[in-house]
Amino acid sequence: MNKRMKYALINGHKQEASPSLRGICQFCEAIVIAKCGKIKAWHWAHKSKKECDHWWENETEWHRDWKNLFPQDWQEIIHFDELGEKHIADVKTNRDWVIEFQHSYLKEEERNSRNTFYNKLVWVVDGRRRERDSKQFFSSIQDGQCLSNTPFVHEVDLDNSRLIKEWSSSKHPVFFDFGEESELWYLPPVVNNNWRYVYSFSRSDFVSLLKDSAIDQEDKFWGVLSGITSSLVSWHNNKLQRIKNQRRAMMRPRNRYKRRL
Ligand SMILES: [Zn+2]
Repeated sequence: MNKRMKYALINGHKQEASPSLRGICQFCEAIVIAKCGKIKAWHWAHKSKKECDHWWENETEWHRDWKNLFPQDWQEIIHFDELGEKHIADVKTNRDWVIEFQHSYLKEEERNSRNTFYNKLVWVVDGRRRERDSKQFFSSIQDGQCLSNTPFVHEVDLDNSRLIKEWSSSKHPVFFDFGEESELWYLPPVVNNNWRYVYSFSRSDFVSLLKDSAIDQEDKFWGVLSGITSSLVSWHNNKLQRIKNQRRAMMRPRNRYKRRL
């Protein structure tokens, strides 16, 4: 498939498509042609069907809207790992967070190879691509256990939601986007047998935490995520302790009863 992108190089400078321009793909250096129609957002398309970055997912409006929330020079960034392998990141922040906006389905091996390639990766997953996902996701919350109302945190059985199950082994943070005006749903990388936690996360906080972390200050986004992880871990440990105590309490009366006999 011909890969579509928002940016291409013209005289070495990153530029958006405008009518009758030709540019160079920043990734594979092939010629790309500006496509400036009325239906799709203006973009660059490869002239030939040459294989570009095979990880690159064609830009949808959903991708474009997300990318546009971040500064232009953070969008469509070539990222190299230590071995020299390269891929295009949708967004890479000044704190080296790579944000991947995932619309299409990714096989587990592909998810894993990206999880390994990037050190600081955040997934934003389009929860509206498959029809049943959002219904299933929200009913799994209904069936789960509420840990807190503000912020809204729920413990959910991962077998009740295909989307959660697919993303449940990610070692990097995952955010589901169901198109709600103000909320994203954070799936923290905290494992608890068959249970996972979902955390309602303000859309605007997500963007501002990633955008407004000055280099000389602490990484705000990381700070918030670590806080969530440690509160979930301690909540989980308290729960285990409660279960233990309940078991002990259940043992006691029976013993007394036996003695009286
Ligand atoms: Zn290319």
